[in-house]
Amino acid sequence: MKHLLIITLSLLTISCNSAQTASQQTIMTRVDYANTITAEELKTHLYTFASDNMEGRMTGTDGQKLAAEYLRNFYMDNGISSPIEENNYYQPIPASYLGRRITTDSENIVAFIKGSEKPDEVIVLSAHYDHVGKREDGTIYNGADDDGSGTVAMLEIAEAFQQAVNDGNGPKRSLLFLHVTGEEIGLYGSKYYTENPLFPLENTVCNLNTDMIGRIDPDKEGEPDYVYLIGSDRLSQELHDVSEAVNSQYVNLELDYKFNAENDPNRFYYRSDHYNFAKNNIPVIFYFNGVHEDYHQPTDTPDKIEYDLMTKRTQLIFQTAWEIANREGRIRADKS
Ligand SMILES: [Zn+2]
Repeated sequence: MKHLLIITLSLLTISCNSAQTASQQTIMTRVDYANTITAEELKTHLYTFASDNMEGRMTGTDGQKLAAEYLRNFYMDNGISSPIEENNYYQPIPASYLGRRITTDSENIVAFIKGSEKPDEVIVLSAHYDHVGKREDGTIYNGADDDGSGTVAMLEIAEAFQQAVNDGNGPKRSLLFLHVTGEEIGLYGSKYYTENPLFPLENTVCNLNTDMIGRIDPDKEGEPDYVYLIGSDRLSQELHDVSEAVNSQYVNLELDYKFNAENDPNRFYYRSDHYNFAKNNIPVIFYFNGVHEDYHQPTDTPDKIEYDLMTKRTQLIFQTAWEIANREGRIRADKS
């Protein structure tokens, strides 16, 4: 739908001005690509991804396998490549790695956009696609916010970057889209990835991790244009400064660092997948909306998501990734 619309518009532009050069016909800016990320598409994905069909996506269950297929099919359908081999988007993880409760193997899902100038330098965008499953009585934990929101945000970000690639405007550095399993039972998928990385960790520029970006913290009612950022300045002042500058220029959300305090009792810095990158001295940003009454409840459903706000947060992550991928110098861990 979206691709057709853009083609139609550019054809109209061409036909209106036959004197245009080839390069003028296809000028799409980073803002145009960011704007391909829409509330409508996020919503469409999330209503499927967090539906009862997925049975709460518990690691190793049929629901998780179905969710993995959804992600794989998305990447295949959109012509986004795998870093492993053609049409194989699964990084398998043996059950024995996943703790005593898990008896079935699981998998991270990975997709890759190769950089045009510095392909060896890789930015990892991550979100966990597992959730906590269902109760014995059949009640399903849909996990729309946790972390259906981050998962479908990644799909839209990947699609926007792939469109840039198709237009000849692809990123200079590479992007790895890492959908990790086993987060809810102990950050296993990201731990496994960092112990078995597809690209050397020393070439991993940073990790932008998204876990819950679709809701509003009750403390923020009335001033909801915010997102909590955690970790951005812990290992790299440069990453923090880039993130701030990108937000001011392109998105203008309130970036709230409340949970980034070293002594924060919630310890969120240690509680999602970015931490496995941070402990390897890779700069990270964790994007998060805070907890709410439906956190880890069967009531975390897609009808309660704030799609317009989620779109802005997703566009912020896209713009930040775009900047890090295309700027002259590589982001460094300058505080370690
Ligand atoms: Zn989560």
